[in-house]
Amino acid sequence: MQHFTKNLLEWFAQSHRPLPWKETKDAYLIWLSEIILQQTRVEQGLPYFERFRAAYPRVQQLADAPEDEVMRMWEGLGYYSRARNLHFTAKHIAYDLKGKFPDTYEGIRALKGVGDYTAAAIASFAYDLPYAVLDGNVYRVLSRYFGEATPIDTTAGKKIFRRLADDMLDTKNPARYNQAIMDFGATHCKPKQPLCATCLLKNDCKAFAENTVGTLPVKSKKLKKITRYFHYLIINEGENVWLKKRGAGDIWHKLYDFPLIEDQATRTLEELKKTSEWMDFFHHKNILIQKISRPFLQVLTHRKIIAVFIEIKIKENFEGEQYGFVQAPRTTLDDYAFPRILNDYLKDDVLELF
Ligand code: SF4
Repeated sequence: MQHFTKNLLEWFAQSHRPLPWKETKDAYLIWLSEIILQQTRVEQGLPYFERFRAAYPRVQQLADAPEDEVMRMWEGLGYYSRARNLHFTAKHIAYDLKGKFPDTYEGIRALKGVGDYTAAAIASFAYDLPYAVLDGNVYRVLSRYFGEATPIDTTAGKKIFRRLADDMLDTKNPARYNQAIMDFGATHCKPKQPLCATCLLKNDCKAFAENTVGTLPVKSKKLKKITRYFHYLIINEGENVWLKKRGAGDIWHKLYDFPLIEDQATRTLEELKKTSEWMDFFHHKNILIQKISRPFLQVLTHRKIIAVFIEIKIKENFEGEQYGFVQAPRTTLDDYAFPRILNDYLKDDVLELF
């Protein structure tokens, strides 16, 4: 066994975190936890895992759940395509695969929403198959320990790190090894302020010896965030409000939001009134602007959303169906899955009167 692997497993024996999905060999529950934990911290994902496991202990129950209910359960976790894939895949397993979770790496990898990393994690945790995980945590640990400065987002880098990851794997106990390196990256060799002083691996860690811990791993491109400006129109008709289920090809697919005017910057009410959308919605209609909110912010991976919310009372029939809107009593908004920024607004009672 490699020196690195031996020390890593020693660290794991002393430090590992007890988590519910580590105590099971049930591939469905392991898959569920892995999908929840994609791009989510363990502390944030844990209550979601518990809630899904309680509501849907078997894949069949998740497959048969209404889609809106699954989206609602997922609300707050972000990256909603994961929830849609989760539901889609549950149905695929329950019906096409007759309830049998795939038990080969290739079979698992073929599931929608499952990439190389998640397939390796499920294959090793559920079936003890010898596949090494390679995610952000693993890239960081390996690049620091081996002083490997090839950018991790290049073809050359991916090849080098894939080989390193495979070479380090404890093929006799891949589940324990994979869990160890993931935990080590998440809690010890952290992105910021890694615990080098107390690290069992520091005597052989190249980055520690060469004082390059803070510069590794290297990425060739940095993501540039685009800002989008939303103006939400909360059209109140009697006790009801108009909502829209978001479509494919944009953020928040299948979540609900309000009718929306998007522009290149946050506009004043007077500017908004001149937009074609506003004129289309409200031309010759008797409306009353009740409130306009402060700007709210939500930061996503590739973009920033700045949204203002305009409360509008409409005194005649709005006929929102022609735009694909649906009407809901204002008191039932808790039943809909919204993007976080809408919940932030709905919970915020510090509104400015316009
Ligand atoms: S010494 Fe520091 S950088 Fe090296 S493996 Fe340990 S925690 Fe990571």
